[in-house]
Amino acid sequence: MGIGKAAARRRGILVVLDGLGDHGHAMLQGRTPLMAAHTPNLDRLAALGMNGLYHASLQGVALPSEIAHFLMFGYELADFPGRGYLEALGANLSVTDDDVALLGRLFCVQEEAGQLILTVEDPQVDTATCLALQREIQHFQAHGVDVEFIPTKGIQGLVRLRGPVSPDITDSNPIQEGRPLMQVLPLAGREADPAVQQTCRALNDYLLWTHRILSQHPLNRRRQDRGLPPLNAVGLQRPGRYKPILSFADKWGLQPLALATGPLYRGLSQYLGMTLLPVTDSANPEVDLRERLELARGLADFDFVYIHTKAPDVAAHTKDPHHKQRVIAQLDRAFAFALRAIAPDPNLLLVITADHSTNSAGAMIHSGETVPLTMVGAFTRRDGVSRFDEVSCAGGALGLVRGAELMYLILNFLDRGKLFGLRDAPVDQPYTPGPATPLLLPPDPLP
Ligand SMILES: [Zn+2]
Repeated sequence: MGIGKAAARRRGILVVLDGLGDHGHAMLQGRTPLMAAHTPNLDRLAALGMNGLYHASLQGVALPSEIAHFLMFGYELADFPGRGYLEALGANLSVTDDDVALLGRLFCVQEEAGQLILTVEDPQVDTATCLALQREIQHFQAHGVDVEFIPTKGIQGLVRLRGPVSPDITDSNPIQEGRPLMQVLPLAGREADPAVQQTCRALNDYLLWTHRILSQHPLNRRRQDRGLPPLNAVGLQRPGRYKPILSFADKWGLQPLALATGPLYRGLSQYLGMTLLPVTDSANPEVDLRERLELARGLADFDFVYIHTKAPDVAAHTKDPHHKQRVIAQLDRAFAFALRAIAPDPNLLLVITADHSTNSAGAMIHSGETVPLTMVGAFTRRDGVSRFDEVSCAGGALGLVRGAELMYLILNFLDRGKLFGLRDAPVDQPYTPGPATPLLLPPDPLP
């Protein structure tokens, strides 16, 4: 092999349409909202590209966005630091490597036979009321653990634990109304750890204390006088703590940029060492997505641009398949830019998929079906698929893609994959060129 002409640098753009996949619905004649939506631009991109289905884990497993994204970026579940930690990072909260952070929220419970039954999980309350109540429960200390509730948005906040603490504990938020607020317990196998025990004791005391303080608060008494349920308990879930990790750039050999909003997506990008550009969400997700695609097209210093939109997931959570169908059709219009300016560029690989399915009917929070995947680039095989949806893409040449396979395929179509088994660095990486150490000639002898 001689020294050839340097090839043009190929760049990848990954568009994650959060929660895009869905169940089939009788009101849509068994179709999903994506199948029912008018999506001429996505369909044309599918026709140009190589298609398949994607699941970040195993088919049927209903994943939350944080874990789906982590697996999609090619990391192992055992290295996942927990959503609480990632949101704390994204919210610019000061968290040390030893702190534990959890998602916390105010909600309404009712005493019944010695238990606290969740009556309203997502109460609609003005910010001033939320802040006034959250201020009352902000600081607590027990069993050597400092507990701090930090408000973030409306009823929501982050709870930071300092001291001899551990994230290996269960949630207290039962999520489903009618179920009791849960006791915080050690995870199986972790019962003997003193930090786990202290964390559980401190949090269970905190939950009882917050219920007492909030129930007596004049704002809640006034709410009850007006026939409104009191915001009288705190729900906790998804604890997290820092874990050391290989950066995305070191793991995949690609300089990454993230175009995403929301504390979770910003926190995860930051954790993986991605450069973050400030983008915002307007009332129009089509405009926001087009802006992100235009930015990604122009940012030549980055090999990998991750674009995120939360719009399909938010639409699905309203539990109206027709609404989700309309939002998808709206997002499709942004892809006219991708069709015109990204797909024809032989140095760009465009990947369009979702992190998980979000069912717009039924009781589950998210659902476990696969999502469609389209890859359009100079080296992708063109198959016979001409529609971008959960059923049509199943007939494509990619077949079923799972977990980290997505990142390996991206390396492959960027022409950056390393022949398996070649060792150019002590830590084996799947890309080429790796972080090799040159052999050095001895210094010239003195004249
Ligand atoms: Zn969701």
